[in-house]
Amino acid sequence: MRTVRPFALLAAVALLAPPLAAQRRDQPVTIVVDRLFDGRGGQMRHVTVFVDRSRILRVEPRPIEQPTFRFDDATLLPGLIDVHVHITAYVNRAGRMHTGRDGDTPAQVAFSEAANAARTLAAGFTTIQSVGSADDRDLRDWIADGGLTGPRILTSLDPITDASLSPDSLRGLVRARARAGADVIKIFASKSIRDGGAQTMSDVQLQALCGEAHAQGLRTVVHAHSAASMRAVTLAGCDQIEHGVFATPEVLQLMAQRGTYFDPQCSLIFRNYLDHRNWFQGIGNFTAEGFEAMEQAIPVAVAVIRQAVATPDLKLVFGTDAVAGAHGHNAEDLVCRVRQAGQKAMDAIVAATSTNATALGLADRIGAIEPGMQADLIVVDGNPLDDITALQRVLLVMKAGRVVHDDQTLAQRPGLR
Ligand SMILES: [Zn+2]
Repeated sequence: MRTVRPFALLAAVALLAPPLAAQRRDQPVTIVVDRLFDGRGGQMRHVTVFVDRSRILRVEPRPIEQPTFRFDDATLLPGLIDVHVHITAYVNRAGRMHTGRDGDTPAQVAFSEAANAARTLAAGFTTIQSVGSADDRDLRDWIADGGLTGPRILTSLDPITDASLSPDSLRGLVRARARAGADVIKIFASKSIRDGGAQTMSDVQLQALCGEAHAQGLRTVVHAHSAASMRAVTLAGCDQIEHGVFATPEVLQLMAQRGTYFDPQCSLIFRNYLDHRNWFQGIGNFTAEGFEAMEQAIPVAVAVIRQAVATPDLKLVFGTDAVAGAHGHNAEDLVCRVRQAGQKAMDAIVAATSTNATALGLADRIGAIEPGMQADLIVVDGNPLDDITALQRVLLVMKAGRVVHDDQTLAQRPGLR
């Protein structure tokens, strides 16, 4: 795993510090870079990106003299998006996954959550969808307008899991989430992979949940592992399926026909648990059998992504399911998709930018480089098409036109010295 250097963390966490690069407000910020990916599969060479306040002003096909930032052998692309994280999950100071009973104070919880957000942003992820915890809401709002540094957050608040409830009660829960400020509804339609992944919610329950969410103007993301549960979720008209470790070619084709987004995980979620058993072992279903199930799921999960990539018209998004200890390592799953699952590097990048933005209903604002879009931009070291691990070497992160992470040496910033 990439370790986040203390300096980078401190820089990202500092709440009221001025931007590391002293941006002047009266003129556009300019970035000269020798390679640009637009987030939709297009690329340009030797360009200057002009940023005016929070938005992309234009891209010129030539490098200007005296830019604010200049990068050699680097790639500029839209800020990355992760459509499935658990941003409030963290490892406490005793080296255990935080639970409500570990004695952490409210301040310790809040700072740990804020640190997760800062790590995620410094790793180049400028937007995340967190599914779910009720705590997400305050983090979302304090980042949006409370001065806290972190990615743009969309949240489901608490997920809906209780398969013993009537369709009417489930509809009521959806309306309660909507009233509480949820951006999306998260539903569990199957058991955890650690418990076999079989369908829990019935077809009628799923129709009630996803139908009510749509009536409230909200999208639905649904946890489903077994092929039967994935099929039921798709036929119920839900928007996006998470995980799908036991997907079959038939159910993936059905999803492609129905336009259901698919969000499978490749590596990070499994490796984070398996490489750090001591953080989790003995809590809930983190038993020896649970770890064994995850170990066995890894090659299956990779094969499912391979199958998904080969399924025509399937809308493949990018979500890591980052949990305690995994925040800031999100790009590991992009590396896995390309190196292990055979997805083309540009396709993996498009998934994590414009396809994700579309799945979130934000395609008119983020996920692509185009005049008028939010200036969510990152610069990475090298060319991700030659070496996908370039995405793990983030040199610069700009969110809504503000530099929030700058990993260069001063000598590389000609416009500032
Ligand atoms: Zn999850």
